[in-house]
Amino acid sequence: MRILILPIDLRDRRILNEIADGLSKVFSGSLCLISKSILPIPRKAYNASRRQYLSTIILNCVKDYAERNRNKSTFNRILGVTDVDLYAPGLNFIFGEAELLGEAAIISLYRLRPEFYGEQPNRDLFTERAIKEAIHEIGHTLGLRHCPNPTCVMHFSLHIGMTDRKRREFCNGCRRKIERYLNPFRAPDFL
Ligand SMILES: [Zn+2]
Ligand SMILES: [Zn+2]
Repeated sequence: MRILILPIDLRDRRILNEIADGLSKVFSGSLCLISKSILPIPRKAYNASRRQYLSTIILNCVKDYAERNRNKSTFNRILGVTDVDLYAPGLNFIFGEAELLGEAAIISLYRLRPEFYGEQPNRDLFTERAIKEAIHEIGHTLGLRHCPNPTCVMHFSLHIGMTDRKRREFCNGCRRKIERYLNPFRAPDFL
């Protein structure tokens, strides 16, 4: 895979580098590129009464960006990263959204910082959460649906505790389904 990480109104390059690093470890044959251009937040996605952004509109803007820039760099996955609070109809908020078996995905960092929950800042925890959400959404683009195993990265997170409970890895069942995207030459543990 060649994954393009696209910041959406986000200037924190450090978190983008950390996400790229986390993705290339799990999808170890893949290349992660970080887009130099920053996508502006689409104002039409804003819902003033909820003070949140409708995720699907932003996802569609990411898809449009992919269409417009297809010739400039080669990628077959695009991950938008935003700092605004996302929602989907019927849900209070979402951590991210992706096209099932598609190209585009987005994640929001808004609810990943411990400060959001009144806790002490913890950069490592914030980064770990962002990487898990990124792997989860890329997993959807590879055709994976939500997994019942609460420690699998493809488990659905209703709240941040569920994100913290899962690992940044696919369970064996999910792993088998996307084997060709993962490193087939991983050395056995005993070496
Ligand atoms: Zn999901
Ligand atoms: Zn799983």
